[in-house]
Amino acid sequence: MCTRCEPLVPSADLLSRASAWQPRRAFLLAAAGAVLTGPALAQVNVGNASMARNLVPADRIEAAGVQQYGQLLEKARAKGALAGDGNAQLQRLRTIATRLIPFATPWNSRAQQWKWEVNLIGSKQINAFCMPGGKIAFFTGILEQLKLSDDEVAMVMGHEMAHALREHARARMAKSAGTGAALSIGAQLLGLGQMGDLAARAGTQLLTLKFSRSDETEADLVGLELAARAGYDPQASVSLWKKMAAASKNQGGLSFLSTHPSGPDRIQQLEANLPKVEKLYREAKRG
Ligand SMILES: [Zn+2]
Repeated sequence: MCTRCEPLVPSADLLSRASAWQPRRAFLLAAAGAVLTGPALAQVNVGNASMARNLVPADRIEAAGVQQYGQLLEKARAKGALAGDGNAQLQRLRTIATRLIPFATPWNSRAQQWKWEVNLIGSKQINAFCMPGGKIAFFTGILEQLKLSDDEVAMVMGHEMAHALREHARARMAKSAGTGAALSIGAQLLGLGQMGDLAARAGTQLLTLKFSRSDETEADLVGLELAARAGYDPQASVSLWKKMAAASKNQGGLSFLSTHPSGPDRIQQLEANLPKVEKLYREAKRG
């Protein structure tokens, strides 16, 4: 389900290389000083975002996300698998996104500049993702096979948006290239241009990036809060993952399910956080 969630990707042939990035010293210096924390009024507790991510320029990752998303849509369009604007399921997804997006910016101020986009790709895969920069895609398989309610779609979308907002892809790329210390030293010794190269290499992996367990927990909780604030029933987070668990028993090896294990831990953690967002949900419903 995510770039972040990992291979939410249709298939390797849909992946393509990001163009080479020019190193940008000024940006990296600015990024290194930024700390991404949760919003002051956040109900779920996920702490600060990883500092490691600052070693890879955010704008480069977002540009790669936008580019790779465009390429993915092109491939889908060429196969006649890209839903048109009049598609009812696509309209449903876009309506849900429109309700969630206003609550995204407090989690990452860069999201103010993102050009959010939602598309639906015809594929049996149980999959969905949100690339860095706010580019969201759902596969028809996740809607149809899991028979998702609007509340459940909001939980999936919130989870994917949370991966992008918390910049998990950016952090994964930095970490996958070496330890934070090694990257720091490398940046000092070699000049920040080296980091541009790193970002370029990492950018080719956007759609197949594997997130850590803690990234997944963070995405679950931030997504839960986003959806609750948008007026979607927090209980749907539990029903969603129960459906995922059932689907994974019947169909092993699917990309989203293989990167999003739905065990008792995940569901228990969501259940434990329901009281934190219940009030947000009730207020949103009243409003
Ligand atoms: Zn995920």
